[in-house]
Amino acid sequence: MSRVVQVEPITTARALRGPFDYVAPEGAAVGMRLVVPFGHRDVPAVVTAIAEDSEHELADVRRVVEPALPPELVELAFWIADEYCSTPARGLSLMLPPTGVRAKTALWAAAVAPAPAAEADPAAAAEGEVRLNDAQRALLASLPRFTGPDTAALRRLEGRGLVAIESRVVRRAPLNVEVGAVRERPEATAEQQAAIDRIVAAAPGERLLLHGVTGSGKTEVYLRAAERALAAGRTVLVLVPEIGLTPQIVARFAARFGDMVAVLHSQLGAGERFDEWMRLHRGEARVCVGPRSAVFAPLRDLGLVIVDEEHDSSYKHEGDPRYDARGVAERRAATNGAVLLVGSATPRPESIHAIPRLRMPSRVDGQPLPPVRVVDMRAASHALHPSTHDALMAARKAIVLLNRRGWSNFLTCQTCGRAWECPQCDVTLVLHRDQHGMACHHCGHRERIPRACPDCGGISIARHGLGTERLADDLAATGAQVFRLDADVGRGAAVLAAFGAAERGILVGTQMVAKGHDFPDVDLGVVVDADSTLRFPDFRSEERTFALVTQLAGRAGRGTGPTRPQVLVQTMDPEAEAIRFAARHDSDAFLRAELVRRRALRYPPFATLIRVVCGAEAPGAAMATALTIVKALRAGDEPGVQVLGPAALFRLRGRERGQVVVKADERGPAIALVRGVVEAISGDKAHKGVTLSVDVDPQ
Ligand code: ADP
Ligand code: ZN
Repeated sequence: MSRVVQVEPITTARALRGPFDYVAPEGAAVGMRLVVPFGHRDVPAVVTAIAEDSEHELADVRRVVEPALPPELVELAFWIADEYCSTPARGLSLMLPPTGVRAKTALWAAAVAPAPAAEADPAAAAEGEVRLNDAQRALLASLPRFTGPDTAALRRLEGRGLVAIESRVVRRAPLNVEVGAVRERPEATAEQQAAIDRIVAAAPGERLLLHGVTGSGKTEVYLRAAERALAAGRTVLVLVPEIGLTPQIVARFAARFGDMVAVLHSQLGAGERFDEWMRLHRGEARVCVGPRSAVFAPLRDLGLVIVDEEHDSSYKHEGDPRYDARGVAERRAATNGAVLLVGSATPRPESIHAIPRLRMPSRVDGQPLPPVRVVDMRAASHALHPSTHDALMAARKAIVLLNRRGWSNFLTCQTCGRAWECPQCDVTLVLHRDQHGMACHHCGHRERIPRACPDCGGISIARHGLGTERLADDLAATGAQVFRLDADVGRGAAVLAAFGAAERGILVGTQMVAKGHDFPDVDLGVVVDADSTLRFPDFRSEERTFALVTQLAGRAGRGTGPTRPQVLVQTMDPEAEAIRFAARHDSDAFLRAELVRRRALRYPPFATLIRVVCGAEAPGAAMATALTIVKALRAGDEPGVQVLGPAALFRLRGRERGQVVVKADERGPAIALVRGVVEAISGDKAHKGVTLSVDVDPQ
């Protein structure tokens, strides 16, 4: 019998790092969850190893917490801590089921014996033994089930020995889908069948990229591949970008696999999430569908891991640990001997470079992709080119993408030139008319819309730039029915449903309008300012622009109305490669050119990037620490490592920031080097008050 458990306390402090030894409780195993005395507090903890002996004096644990984590997730937490320069405790905190909830119970009633028939033996009835009125008969006929408002009536029948009532666990089910109601299982097309055959023949641990145009039927391929994995007794993990905007894929999995499907995402209530987690943990549900965080689902014996829309940046988590769910999915597939299947109409250059590809170049319905026309805006005087405006008025259903929220981007005083900025961040405030205020899109700071300039008293205030709110308003003024979709309008799914159901209308919004929904009757797509993503000073800006235009074209080209579907892309830079290739639907040529460029500039996939951001309130402190980091990294003298910076970033939430970027040929040694330097500096009193965040593969 082992007497010692090594545990990792779940705390966020970088300095407090396990393992710490305690007396092993009964039945101790890796993954067991505990509450342990730690310092002066009791903290949650996870058992990470079992030992025979310890050189320390051991304390007893306070208690054991159910359910335990599968050992695979404990191992995964350590991998994440290493791979993304974090700590085991933070890695483990990603794996935990929702806390503070329990199973919900309700009363379950069942008939003890068959109810007597209506025309019961008059003699028996006369004895008064089982005489029932019609209401009671109906009640008995409705059993077995959970009790409701009729509990008292059922209790009376229980008293007469006709009904048994017990407490049972109720499942809080988030899937509000009529199982089997969606569609039949269609005959696979030749392209689909070829892809399915290849996936089914894949070796354990093999990776495949499904590169199929929008409407090529990728979901059906996922479903068939999942069928095979389930038939082989394995489980299936399906990652989707944003569940609120992609309810269709969840519905289709639920329609095909029913109760076997669990969904896990943060918008569920804690109770629902807990129940779904437990169904997966117990093996009752063997398919899990969800966004980024679902990659930690407690599935055992994974046979297939699917990442849909693999190009989507929402797979990257922007808080410590800054994990990439695509990287974690790949790791889980590899350790489980599962097939990894990633799919997209616009795959990442990284994936094209590394993963064997299956192509599905045609749409299931045989329709061609819609023509894309590039609209040169260099001489335009309005946000919408006259030809765009005319096309919008002629279209039956249109989707308009403008990647800027709010009414206008910034305000200036026309008398003295003052610009309204966030007091905490070096950015301008965005006007939101429907919220009656101005907001900082970085820290959430809000203030009133100014009537006069506080500096000079001038009352002539100019509004610059165009956001989705104002564009939607302008279009509504033409009499069109307008639906707006951006992060400011609460329920995205409801907006999409309303647009889907409408006869005519214009859907206006940020990149949310280009996500995986499917409206067959849209005959026009418009990108208002294709340059907004291109202007972004980032090596992924080309890839993003290409993906945005292509994805929108995919949503907008199945028009079933009288006008021929088309896509208009407004730009100040009609010669830009990303736009030209997207206009020709030529993702192969785009990806080829992009990989050449990335190789020449030493960007991923030809190098690993690691970003370290220092932040501090004290003036100059962040840049000073960043400079120390640069020197320490350079002193490491790791071959193939290039250290760039420090560069000042704009002030955020009252903190100045400085950034260091590492470009490396070899991933592992570079991560180890950065981790060593960051740990030394975060423990160094000279850099007190400076926060450090490390981002491996920044987006
Ligand atoms: P993608 O994800 O590649 O954009 P979807 O999986 O959404 O494409 O499929 C597009 C449409 O085609 C959906 O309405 C889907 O139900 C339909 N579909 C897919 N495969 C078939 C098939 N083999 N036969 C008929 N319809 C299909
Ligand atoms: Zn701010």
